[in-house]
Amino acid sequence: MNQDIHTALLQQKGIRLAVKREDLIHPLIPGNKYRKLKYNLIKARDEGSDTLLTFGGAYSNHIAATAAAGREYGFKTIGIIRGEELQDRTDRNPTLRFAQEQGMDFRFVSREDFRKKQDESFIAGLRREFGRFYLIPEGGTNELAVKGCEEILAPGDSTYDYVCCAVGTGGTLSGLINSAGDQQKVLGFPALKGSFLNEDICKFARSGNWQLMEGFHFGGYARVDETLVRFINDFRKQTGIPLDPVYTGKMMYGILALVRQGYFENGASILAIHTGGLQGIAGMNRTLERKGLPLIDKD
Ligand SMILES: *Cc1c(COP(=O)(O)O)cnc(C)c1O
Repeated sequence: MNQDIHTALLQQKGIRLAVKREDLIHPLIPGNKYRKLKYNLIKARDEGSDTLLTFGGAYSNHIAATAAAGREYGFKTIGIIRGEELQDRTDRNPTLRFAQEQGMDFRFVSREDFRKKQDESFIAGLRREFGRFYLIPEGGTNELAVKGCEEILAPGDSTYDYVCCAVGTGGTLSGLINSAGDQQKVLGFPALKGSFLNEDICKFARSGNWQLMEGFHFGGYARVDETLVRFINDFRKQTGIPLDPVYTGKMMYGILALVRQGYFENGASILAIHTGGLQGIAGMNRTLERKGLPLIDKD
């Protein structure tokens, strides 16, 4: 569903903006994480695997989604979680508590070990410990994930001049790039500071109709400040659309900043992808509370 946004700024600049509500496609496996898991789960089943194993941080949307998908589609799930100190605190972490309720088993590893997550010897160790499993990389990005994200855009979406999306690993953006029309431009808003994203995207993307809009990461991955929190709360009051603080909030802030700067030509139409991530608000609010910052409104 594409939801049109109306604000004084958009009207004044002559810009049409709609939000594709991918956050609503599944109650427990929302947004791009559903798209990225879809063909991986089909392959896992075809291979006769009954267990999914993946990696993530303490507030990972991917961990939450994989746990819920496992429960819904009949797979056991194992989450390799960054940070041994979380071991005794899972019930105080909303993301891990949710994943556990969905039946995920955890293995907490040090940051040093977590960095080895792509090493063959590390994975061989996991196979010795857990037996056979279907491995999904951290963040869920691989070729099958990109294929799933190629299904985000519908035929009717080819009328938009711009397609905008938040970027973590770039898997979702790659799927959008591959399915967008030649006349469209795909803009990615990185949620992290300085990375090898361009290379990663080039690995999966089959077209050059895209660009990364740097400078809207608010200091780095999962960093937030009062400006961003207030923006997210105001946007929700104005439009009824909740945004998450790690990805979609920063993307929307960036889009509207570019509108204000006159980046988009008068009469342009923009489709912003709401990739979900709302499960992360509860965890982020605990951090904000500790820092004495305003909280993100929840229903
Ligand atoms: C994971 C995630 C992203 C990033 O997706 P990539 O394919 O890794 O770039 C964007 N938005 C939300 C809400 C996410 O959870």
